[in-house]
Amino acid sequence: MESKTEGPTKIEFVRSTGGCLFENENNLKNNIMLGAIIGDVVGSRFEFNNTNTLNFELFTPESTFTDDTICTIAVADAILKDIPFGESLHYWCRKYPYPKGGYGGSFAGWVHSDNPKPYNSYGNGSAMRVSACGWLEEGPNVISQYAKKSAECTHNHPEGVKGAVAVADCIAFLRIGLSKKELKNHITLLHGYNLNQTCKDIRAGNSFNETCQVTVPQSIVAFLESTDFESSIRLAVSLGGDSDTIAAITGSIAEAFYPIPHYMKERALSKLPTDLLNVYSNFLYYKATGIKL
Ligand SMILES: [Mg+2]
Repeated sequence: MESKTEGPTKIEFVRSTGGCLFENENNLKNNIMLGAIIGDVVGSRFEFNNTNTLNFELFTPESTFTDDTICTIAVADAILKDIPFGESLHYWCRKYPYPKGGYGGSFAGWVHSDNPKPYNSYGNGSAMRVSACGWLEEGPNVISQYAKKSAECTHNHPEGVKGAVAVADCIAFLRIGLSKKELKNHITLLHGYNLNQTCKDIRAGNSFNETCQVTVPQSIVAFLESTDFESSIRLAVSLGGDSDTIAAITGSIAEAFYPIPHYMKERALSKLPTDLLNVYSNFLYYKATGIKL
């Protein structure tokens, strides 16, 4: 009998009252961008109402996607469409002008400008949106270049670029099998971040901060201390400060190291509108086939 090998098919999302179901579960082996989306959704209700505990409901009716998910999807869509990152960010952020928590002041100005220019930012927006770059097949050097470009359209301050490149590097290095200890050494050497702080230290001294140079190393520390994907998100949120973005960055890194519990995928993706889901689905299809739809 003739055997037939079927290639990956595009994921169709089917809405149900319990969340969204996936027709082709096999295509979800790659957890691309889910870490950022889950971190954003879980952290969304804590950005302006911090918690310092690990014991909280991950998903409530209040939990929603925010700017971190929109910008993450925009970066992926730029790769899929071969268009400049700035053009894609501008399109998606104008399509969703008032997410929960809004956009940072300078970024909001950039979104609403008809002639947007980089504004020398070192805010953590460059780091929270970069994860799709970390999953490209071309290897760590090309990944760093993509990450740099994804930052520079807005965050062209050296710390803004470094934040994005460091997160993409973490993903790239974990994908090729580095241990947490090796990752810590590599990132410290390459980017000079202090990764010797602990989550306990960070919680004790934390105040609201949205810069790459403060929050990217904190997000990496939350990953280093975690024991599985869920604990990485809980640790990130428990640091306080810019909770949704810290959790989005930690999740971006953690998904390259751990499997993601199915219920977390379902609950987070069920919060997304169809157009954002379509880009997510198309990016997974691109990863699986090399074809840009
Ligand atoms: Mg946010």
